[in-house]
Amino acid sequence: MRVEIIPLNDGTIGTQRTITALHFGDESAARKIYIQASLHADELPGALTAYHLRAQFLALEQAGYINAHIVLVPLANPIGLSQALHHTAVGRFEFLSGQNFNRLGALNLFELTLAHLQKNGAVLRQDAAANVATIRGAMRQALAEFVPKNALESMHLALVGLAFDADVVLDLHCDERAVLHMYTLPDLWPLFEPLAAHLGSQCQLLADSSGANPFDEALSTAWTQLAGAYPHSNIPPACATTTVELRSRADISHAFAVQDARAIVQFLHGLGDVTLAAADVVAAPALLRPPYPLAGKVYVLAPCAGVVVYHAQAGDDVTAGQLLAELIDPIEGRSEQVLSPIDGVVYARAVLQFTQKGEILASVAGAVDLGHGAGLSP
Ligand SMILES: [Zn+2]
Repeated sequence: MRVEIIPLNDGTIGTQRTITALHFGDESAARKIYIQASLHADELPGALTAYHLRAQFLALEQAGYINAHIVLVPLANPIGLSQALHHTAVGRFEFLSGQNFNRLGALNLFELTLAHLQKNGAVLRQDAAANVATIRGAMRQALAEFVPKNALESMHLALVGLAFDADVVLDLHCDERAVLHMYTLPDLWPLFEPLAAHLGSQCQLLADSSGANPFDEALSTAWTQLAGAYPHSNIPPACATTTVELRSRADISHAFAVQDARAIVQFLHGLGDVTLAAADVVAAPALLRPPYPLAGKVYVLAPCAGVVVYHAQAGDDVTAGQLLAELIDPIEGRSEQVLSPIDGVVYARAVLQFTQKGEILASVAGAVDLGHGAGLSP
């Protein structure tokens, strides 16, 4: 294992933040795997999973059973990890700017790469492997030339710089109160279905793009957008990414983390990137639910303020019109019922005890594309 420490351009005085990346296997291997945890800094089940992955990768490395270059970033957000307000961690939005840490903003890998390819008159033809090498070279140079204008961009640049040339990227998050669920592109679903099965994922949400430029899509859609920009060239989706939501924020236990780390290692064995002894190989169980379109999910908003009484829990299958929650106004003696707008599964719900009007109370995924696009929560 090689420990790489990347200093961030913090723009402040007297402190120095860093990103630490752990490298396993032969760094010149043909394939590369990138796994990061806790980009939303207060979502820590992935960090504990990374702790167990670190031990498993070390053991595999010492036995000579790692066949790819594996990069593990156990804590991807040192800025957010230092944010707390009144003894409560705040890791989703940067205090300084209000920006969601998982929205890459101006660091648009597709646009930076396209500009670099065009500036240098790159030729992309039918040889997919040659095109991948050319595009990764352009990405590397475009990222080297990108000048971050603040600490957050410096952090994003460090993470994208570690991940852009990986064949497979796992971004480990969690939700407020949730069952394990995943996001990826429809074309990448066949690759990630075994991971979903090994993890016991209960909901899989697919979209070509959410339009929000989160970390995973910034990497994967750079390739699909370049394929669109060069329609006569053979450009494969060379960076397969998924965001894995490891249940609820409070679901931090060795039992879950060991289980999730083992599932990821089984997935990597299936890809040929690590080798497990025959006795350690587990057949992927049946997938619990088929994938749904991201455009089929509904964020159920509070129609008014009130004390929240939840009637549906994460993981519940619900039908349209089923009671999800009540919002209580104890002064007026009123109870407002919040109903599911669709048939589907409640894959996540809020943990609010009191809601303002317009807050997201529950996330329900259904099989039917509702035609409202595939956006993400703020
Ligand atoms: Zn997150």
